[in-house]
Amino acid sequence: MKKRLFIGIDVGGTNMRAALVDDAGSILHVERIATRSSGGAEDTSRRLIDACRSLVARASKGGARVAAVGMGVAGKIDARQGLLIFSPNMPAMRNYPLGVELRDGLGLPVFMENDANVFGLGENWVGSGRNVDNWIGLTLGTGVGGCIFFHSRLWEGDHLGFVAEIGHLVVHPEGPACACGSQGCLETHASATALLKGVENAAQNGALLEGPLFDRWRQQSLNAEMIYQCASAGDETALKLFRRMGWALGLALSNLFTVLGIRHAILGGGVSASWDLFIGPLRDSFTRYTRFLSPEEMVVMKSSLGDNAALLGAARHAMDQVS
Ligand SMILES: [Zn+2]
Repeated sequence: MKKRLFIGIDVGGTNMRAALVDDAGSILHVERIATRSSGGAEDTSRRLIDACRSLVARASKGGARVAAVGMGVAGKIDARQGLLIFSPNMPAMRNYPLGVELRDGLGLPVFMENDANVFGLGENWVGSGRNVDNWIGLTLGTGVGGCIFFHSRLWEGDHLGFVAEIGHLVVHPEGPACACGSQGCLETHASATALLKGVENAAQNGALLEGPLFDRWRQQSLNAEMIYQCASAGDETALKLFRRMGWALGLALSNLFTVLGIRHAILGGGVSASWDLFIGPLRDSFTRYTRFLSPEEMVVMKSSLGDNAALLGAARHAMDQVS
């Protein structure tokens, strides 16, 4: 019998990546295409199908076959219908049957899943979570995604269309307005969006002093990585934002660990690269709010797969569905 391979797709804001993955969790090849196109949603879908076809051809050249496709998408999906309801990464694809088109175009089963869940499935399979039974996963990016693993299995809740929305755990009821409609969510403190908003607020309040951060803000060319660099160079406004991020993450983990009776977390996503600036405040905040767990028992780990967690997790999701 031919060796079974899987395709894992990660839909990012700029690029979509599709990877050929074997059943041991190794990435064999990656295809990359631009997420947005002037040709609209249909064109993006067509190019994604072409990228997957080339992976299928590559698999068969090597004497293997692709058994299924998994896809991680930010936003709201209807996994059963293969429907993308809304994704901030693909605003042109509202109520778009991306999963159906992919399935029909490739003649393969296609399984969609939330992006934070596929991050977790990847880390659980061959990353930082592989030897941990119970853990919380957080992806710090444009927003904050969350996942929960119990006994090394993804917690799916009551299939209500959302689960483990840890980014929307309220850590400060009087805090900033959140994209979800609530206020003071973890996401408004611990995401790239929160960092940018924080600089904007400081500028409005006159707290943003002359310097590289001010210059970037004035040129409207600021991003999270630049805020990190300015903080590392000692900019007090930027440092404050990372301290606030750490404080909010420590408070959220303290609440979650206390409620669930667990003590491991894995942090991923682009903004987690600013680890050195927020991990100290995270530990301080955790120590301050936790009464049931000693701070030494808390284990907060970095994602060990980085960008590949979502690709591997999407492939693993497909593998679990057809096994
Ligand atoms: Zn929210």
